[in-house]
Amino acid sequence: MSNLPNCPKCNSEYTYEDGVLFICPECGHEWTTEQENEEQTVIKDSNGNVLQDGDTVTVIKDLKVKGSSTVIKQGTKVKNIRLIDGDHDIDCKIDGFGAMQLKSEFVKKI
Ligand SMILES: [Zn+2]
Repeated sequence: MSNLPNCPKCNSEYTYEDGVLFICPECGHEWTTEQENEEQTVIKDSNGNVLQDGDTVTVIKDLKVKGSSTVIKQGTKVKNIRLIDGDHDIDCKIDGFGAMQLKSEFVKKI
């Protein structure tokens, strides 16, 4: 954890980390590392299995669809998921429901 980069502006080695930011106390420069940006987000299902685009999952609990009275029943099969960024990290189409976004914590990979 102590392998902090030098400041890209003034090359100071007294940089420190603050959350996702690196901060240089000498010139006040703040930046994030490229490594951080390149790091791939790993999205896992409720069992901790890594999900990928195209996977088929099932819903593990009844999910109420926002803004409607529709409920996606536990056990509903969801084919060909697409992983996205955000609070709901799965984009998909469910037969009979249409386009939908789900949370990975409420599904499991088949
Ligand atoms: Zn600096």
